[in-house]
Amino acid sequence: MELWQQMIRDSIHTVDQLVEKFELDRSVAEQLDEFFQARINPYYLSLIRYPGDPIWRQCVPDKIELEDIDGVEDPLNEDEMSPVPNITHRYPDRCLFLVTSQCGMYCRFCTRKRKVGDSDKISMKSFESAFAYIEQHTEIRDVILSGGDPLMLTDYLLERILKRLREIPHVEIIRLGSKMPCVLPHRITPKLCEMLKKYHPIYVNTHFNHPWEITPESTKACAMLVDAGCPVNNQAVLMKGVNDDPAVMKELMQKLLKIRVRPYYLFMADETKGASHFRTSVEKGLEIIDKLRGHTSGLAIPHFVIDAPGGGGKIPLLPKYILHQDEDKMILRNYKYDHYVYKEPKSVIEKTISPNKVEIEISPGNGKIKEPHKLKKLKEVRIPEYAMND
Ligand code: SF4
Repeated sequence: MELWQQMIRDSIHTVDQLVEKFELDRSVAEQLDEFFQARINPYYLSLIRYPGDPIWRQCVPDKIELEDIDGVEDPLNEDEMSPVPNITHRYPDRCLFLVTSQCGMYCRFCTRKRKVGDSDKISMKSFESAFAYIEQHTEIRDVILSGGDPLMLTDYLLERILKRLREIPHVEIIRLGSKMPCVLPHRITPKLCEMLKKYHPIYVNTHFNHPWEITPESTKACAMLVDAGCPVNNQAVLMKGVNDDPAVMKELMQKLLKIRVRPYYLFMADETKGASHFRTSVEKGLEIIDKLRGHTSGLAIPHFVIDAPGGGGKIPLLPKYILHQDEDKMILRNYKYDHYVYKEPKSVIEKTISPNKVEIEISPGNGKIKEPHKLKKLKEVRIPEYAMND
């Protein structure tokens, strides 16, 4: 047995362990176990610094989960968009292939908790129909292995899947959606990396949510994957009490870049049953992006998205940078809230033919107003009208 498998075996997962370790009331622990089982491996457990901290909140069951009766079992409508078992086909050229129900840790906010941990709901028995679907759908050029966590499979089983996918000519890219580099980095072994190298291009999308998850162990795991030729991207979830703070998020994104992991997405938390206590306002997410963009490298800034309820896919959100737009120009603000005018090409041409007065309308009182170089010759700059933060 490999070390990571032993650590899975040594995880906290029974009602007795929950009662003993986290002082949960037994009947609450039983209800939580029934709702969504726990799995906290010794490595992730060691990252907890105090009860209720950002690591604790992600992994330790909490009775507040049982109060959330309005949440949805399948907020992203994945089951409706599943043409055959194990496949979700939402976007034109890519599909999700669920290959296991198991994870290195069971996250309390998981969107897929209706299936995760239950091998009847994500079964290997239906792999053949999944492969057949991918073979028949020549528009699928990108297959994302997920679950559960595909790195919970043994190297042998994972290689069989990769090999089979590589026999399908139209599958150009394979992605592994895995939280293991974060929650159980010991899974990333030299043997696994040697195997992955044979099936490139393989991308790894991982899932760090807090800077404390970046440790010598997770740093090493990510380095091994990158050195094996797998670009590693991060998909974080914005969560109350975990990372809903611009300083924490900036530290996370900068530390990810240092370990060669590219921040890719920051998701608003889904409307998942039992997880509403993690949800923040959209405004909080916009504030975080506003405090990242321009204040640190663009490489450190993820796409901030809502995975649309009902299966609409990812919808990007941006703070308001366009303050005014008409057919001639845009008035923009930068990260310091200075204002700039960007002229549309058509208006540039018109001015060459017949130079004319340009009026810029800027509201009073909100931030300082900087005159861009190209406007120095303008005859008039007026100040009324748009509201900067509307
Ligand atoms: S690793 Fe992913 S699939 Fe598994 S419990 Fe966590 S969020 Fe859910």
